[in-house]
Amino acid sequence: MHIVTKAKAIAFHAGLLVLTASPAAAQVTAIRAGRLIDPEAGTVTMNQIILIEGGRFQAIGPNVAIPPGAEVIDLSQLTVLPGLVDAHNHLALTYKTVPENNVYYLTYVLESTPLRAIQAASNGIQMLSAGFTIVRDMGNNGNYADTALRIAIEQGWIPGPMIVNSGIIIGGMGGQFWPTPEMAMEKNIVYPEYLDADTPDEIVKAVRQNALFGATVIKICVDCKPWGYSVDDIRLFINEAGKAGLKVEGHVQTVDGARRAIEAGIWSIAHGGGLTDEMHKLMAKKGIWRAGTETPLTLVGHTTEGRYERTVAGLRNAYENNVPLTFSTDADYYIPGMTRGEVAIEFIETWKAAGIPNVDILRAMTTNGYLVSETENTRGPIRAGLAADLIAVGGNPLESIDALRDVQFVMKDGVVFKQNGVMTPEKFFHGGPVNGWNIR
Ligand SMILES: [Zn+2]
Repeated sequence: MHIVTKAKAIAFHAGLLVLTASPAAAQVTAIRAGRLIDPEAGTVTMNQIILIEGGRFQAIGPNVAIPPGAEVIDLSQLTVLPGLVDAHNHLALTYKTVPENNVYYLTYVLESTPLRAIQAASNGIQMLSAGFTIVRDMGNNGNYADTALRIAIEQGWIPGPMIVNSGIIIGGMGGQFWPTPEMAMEKNIVYPEYLDADTPDEIVKAVRQNALFGATVIKICVDCKPWGYSVDDIRLFINEAGKAGLKVEGHVQTVDGARRAIEAGIWSIAHGGGLTDEMHKLMAKKGIWRAGTETPLTLVGHTTEGRYERTVAGLRNAYENNVPLTFSTDADYYIPGMTRGEVAIEFIETWKAAGIPNVDILRAMTTNGYLVSETENTRGPIRAGLAADLIAVGGNPLESIDALRDVQFVMKDGVVFKQNGVMTPEKFFHGGPVNGWNIR
């Protein structure tokens, strides 16, 4: 039984077991889309019919016949598009001005993993309501709250985006912290936020631990300490993660760290601080994803004018160098009056300031998000056979990307989550694991 379960888990990680069953099975749903955007092609088509059955898209086109008995959803006044992707968030972390003055070291001390897991469930729902159907959840999630969130959504307990989760961030001793000896050695304060791995043996063991406990991507601290990881260390991570079918994202904050990560052939780089023009050219050449986490100035207190100017210039430079771009936020804090999803959407301000055309912002938020998440053949595009995820907005995001601030409709796995701007999540809640207890 254990072997069967593990095989299924591996199949899932490879994206083969995305939809074993669906609450929408047997019932056919037909959506009338006034406008339908294909972000990859950058095109809009008018008056399309989208047929959905068993949680998947069946047919899309202007002359698709609606079968008798189908449930018809009228989105003829709206623009329909595929779901959005945040390629870097931390759903089980929410630091705040009060009481911790946005110092997340204190959040770890004040809030238990179980509390943070419940926060993650709420944050996931808030992200889905804002149109994010996939979130890469990149660590700092306590003791595997990210795995619990992913499994709870996949088994059918609660609504939420598809989660690509990293488990615990792997770094040299101390992780991103500079703990005191007594806190690190006697209280183990760094765990569970970071896994210590300073030697090749520890690197192998840490990757295997995360894979065992449900990570679907590996996140490492490339240069959180001046010694950091060498090119060979990073190659070891990539090789070991590859055995479990996982890619490696590097937290990078220096040019030297970026150079080592790029040379090793890492999958994606988080944060733009170390990404110079030279690094961007190397990334473009190697096809390395940029998850730049470009905080807008409008999220007061979370960046400064100087940092924001450098962030905008860096994003612009990456775009001009044809670096593969993802939309990524690192939006792991509370802004009073805003949902987690609204905070994430706010990041379009930085992309607008960088002068990036709407179609390319939308590609970063959709097509490229599916590619960096490796779901492009199972979930993301509105294409027959894929999981039926889509959203609808009032305006046209190709004309004004701000249209994405007003998500009126959200469907996930063929089930309506939001309609007429109001969440209607009843069909996502179950008293048991309706999609399979053995999803891990
Ligand atoms: Zn982060």
